[in-house]
Amino acid sequence: MLKGKTALVTGSTSGIGLGIALALARQGANLILNGFGDVEGPKAEVAALGVKVGYHGADMSKPSDIAAMVAYADAEFGGIDILVNNAGIQHVAPVQDFPPEKWDAIIAINLSSAFHTTRLALPGMLQRGWGRILNIASVHGLVASAQKSAYVAAKHGLVGFTKAVALETATSPVTVNAICPGWVLTPLVQKQVDALAEREQVSNDEAKRRLLAEKQPSLQFTTPDELGALAVFLCSDAAFNVRGQAWSMDGGWTAV
Ligand code: NAD
Repeated sequence: MLKGKTALVTGSTSGIGLGIALALARQGANLILNGFGDVEGPKAEVAALGVKVGYHGADMSKPSDIAAMVAYADAEFGGIDILVNNAGIQHVAPVQDFPPEKWDAIIAINLSSAFHTTRLALPGMLQRGWGRILNIASVHGLVASAQKSAYVAAKHGLVGFTKAVALETATSPVTVNAICPGWVLTPLVQKQVDALAEREQVSNDEAKRRLLAEKQPSLQFTTPDELGALAVFLCSDAAFNVRGQAWSMDGGWTAV
């Protein structure tokens, strides 16, 4: 379905980003990966699906790195057709104790990076006559939780940004949407499971159960594979008129 298209997924060396990258590659899209940590493993997983795979190590908190990554995509892949703004970090603390440098990093990586990738990639999509922009927001783009002021602010901002750009492109062949996952068991959430286990002196399994019970009525983690399938749908022709949405996959979290 996506043969001949190129997808850039930011923060795709791990977790949700890697799940989405693999799902798009299974549909035939060429992939540009980005993110820190092990790169060769994820690259090999994507390459095994028979598509062209590249990597750029842009630090998504740095606009000049982002510009270099988009230039790399233009030079090596002929542009970006599917942009998945996924890179993100978390920090948990009450607002009066929130380190200002963590606030700045979260706003830069979870929000401003999507502005920079979008402003640089959108003109090529419009010129080539097809494009998909998927912003990986969160339930925290729709509702809040205590101790996550920077994350909630950034994700609400990302949902707002999604709507504004979707309106600007409403009559074009480029669609712009956000995906709002609930709890997904990735390294980002495992840290919060570990903190809960430590705080409440319980096992890893019990900490996971308590974390889910607090917020996610299905009592099941959403998986990167499920989010990959949603991303594939949003890239399909059938989703042409899905525009400016913040689409939850949260086990009922935001239904209450
Ligand atoms: P993760 O920690 O598994 O992956 C994050 C990815 O971002 C990694 O590849 C990491 O290397 C990359 N990254 C971090 N900082 C970066 C930077 N400065 N520059 C480039 N890459 C950077 O986390 P995840 O849970 O897969 O999260 C992915 C996205 O999904 C995030 O935006 C997160 O907010 C969002 N999300 C996660 C959950 C969840 O429950 N895990 C829920 C809702 C939304």
